[in-house]
Amino acid sequence: MAKDYYAVLGVSRNADEKEIKSAYRRLARKYHPDVNPNDKAAEAKFKEVSEAYEVLSDPEKRKLYDQFGEHWEHASQFGGQPGGNGAPRPDVDFPGDFQTIFEEIFSGFGGGRSAQASQGFIPPRDVSKEVLLTLEEIDSGTKRTLTYQTEDACKSCGGTGRVSSGPMRTCSTCRGSGRLRGVFGMGQPCPECGGVGKTSATPCATCRGQGTMPTNKKVDVSIPAGVSEGKKLRVPGKGVVGSNGRAGDLYVVIREAEHPKFRRNGDNLEVDVDIPYTVAALGGEVKVPTLRGTVAMRVPPGTQSGQTFRLANQGISRPGGQRSHLFAKARITVPKRLSDEERRLLEQLENLRRVTA
Ligand SMILES: [Zn+2]
Ligand SMILES: [Zn+2]
Repeated sequence: MAKDYYAVLGVSRNADEKEIKSAYRRLARKYHPDVNPNDKAAEAKFKEVSEAYEVLSDPEKRKLYDQFGEHWEHASQFGGQPGGNGAPRPDVDFPGDFQTIFEEIFSGFGGGRSAQASQGFIPPRDVSKEVLLTLEEIDSGTKRTLTYQTEDACKSCGGTGRVSSGPMRTCSTCRGSGRLRGVFGMGQPCPECGGVGKTSATPCATCRGQGTMPTNKKVDVSIPAGVSEGKKLRVPGKGVVGSNGRAGDLYVVIREAEHPKFRRNGDNLEVDVDIPYTVAALGGEVKVPTLRGTVAMRVPPGTQSGQTFRLANQGISRPGGQRSHLFAKARITVPKRLSDEERRLLEQLENLRRVTA
């Protein structure tokens, strides 16, 4: 069990109770088995997340974990700490706080608390879409229209897949009890009947009993200047619509396309600049490409191949609006063909260097 519980929850080691709880809540919602039916990977992830939360939300266990890492359980056996009976196992009921959190997580999704709660159990969910941007687009900021499909809760049946009127029958999923022992026996409201214990016998005609309907979405996204690889932009309300009519969010994930000329070096940019051997030897002016055109740069006499020159504020936009620096790397070029005259002069130069050397 060599797991980093902090990494599992995606929080820092000094995260407070609130951060831990909110990270757990977000992840538990994402990986909950009812949200990901028959998804073994999600189920494993859910267990892992729950296990991490079980330890980190308990000050005693967390202290032991911080001190002993993965061996904290053994430490607790020897140390006689309370509650040191190990990691959660399936079929062991969780302490009260878990139940509370689950009710919070699923409240409003037809959690079966009130008889009025809509049946069905499709939570609003976030979706993420990647956009590939050129460095020029990142420098100037840009717009994109994203089209994608989500599986929203069916509006006709609220995600239950069944009509709400007509003959009822005992729910086959919970056998009428209205609650399910989940992965850890937490007694969640039954997703099938929303905790009522009965379901309609008639499938919803709109979604053919599926509970969800594919919905095409089209969203115009303004991407500000200065974003970078991996940055996420949130567009509220453009994710999956749940049974309660609320929608998750869309996260636009920025991907940077490789540029034929420029390379990123953190915030800054790097570019190779061809410098004729005569200019490199004598010094002079060369043109340097930037994302917004070209600028002139003076190079000193005796410029060497690979030598780098900094062009202040000629890089790429930063989030604040300022621009980073551009580093021009000298690449000395030599003519592939020489005229007779050039050859003669170069030979003279070579002889001269031989004499003076
Ligand atoms: Zn329906
Ligand atoms: Zn049920």
